[in-house]
Amino acid sequence: MRKIKKQLVVHAFTPIAKPLNASIQKNSTMLLLGELPYVNGDKTFNTKFYYIKGIRGMLRHACMALAQECGIEVCHTSEKETFKDGTGLIPSGFHALGTCDPPCILRKIFGAFGEKSSINVLADPIASIKHKEYLTEVPVQKVHIASENRIALTYDGIAIQDFRESYFSGYFSFYIDVTKLTNTEIKFLMESLLYVEILGAGRASGYGRVTIFNFDLQKIETTRNVAEDNKGNYKIVEKATEKPISLSNIEDWRDSLNFSEQNEQNEETVTA
Ligand SMILES: [Zn+2]
Repeated sequence: MRKIKKQLVVHAFTPIAKPLNASIQKNSTMLLLGELPYVNGDKTFNTKFYYIKGIRGMLRHACMALAQECGIEVCHTSEKETFKDGTGLIPSGFHALGTCDPPCILRKIFGAFGEKSSINVLADPIASIKHKEYLTEVPVQKVHIASENRIALTYDGIAIQDFRESYFSGYFSFYIDVTKLTNTEIKFLMESLLYVEILGAGRASGYGRVTIFNFDLQKIETTRNVAEDNKGNYKIVEKATEKPISLSNIEDWRDSLNFSEQNEQNEETVTA
């Protein structure tokens, strides 16, 4: 079996992020995937590993911010146009999700309700591993994971509620499978990484700030073969090779979208 895909590998850092998505009584925790053994020297240890939720949403918001700055109207996250009381829900520069014809660049990449997205966003699970050296059977990202005890206070400083939230801190990477995207869409996505800011909850309190250091655009060729060992057991042997893809003039995705035509349309709307 031979498979070729294109992917963006993004390397990032967060001092503290709370991609919280499970609540147990008063405690909000990250999505626990399971326990995983790792090997240090000749000893095996167990650690819990977690899923980083919210990366896709983070990217979507970054793309919305880029489009807005360029004056290109794209889908909002809401498919409703108004709140229950009739006031407008969609800010200027956006249209209700899935209402564009032809589909805008954001919808082509992220899809809409009932429409498949053209990208897959993946991240290896994260785990708190105490040892410097470690070996795992599947790829795992080593970060710091802990819980914070927080107390909500009244104005007079009286504790009214205490709760726990889990967070992670450290370097992490994620992958965006861009095999189905055109070069224009890939360039748009690459430039949108400049607008990535917040992952997960607690923005107002300063949580979730994400710094992106660099990224690679790669062509990955994977081959899988069945091999028989000397005991007569079959094994799947996988080999992957990666090559860098270089795209010049990242910012020229704007021209490819036929900018002038869009501006004309906007002018017509104003006149009407
Ligand atoms: Zn749209």
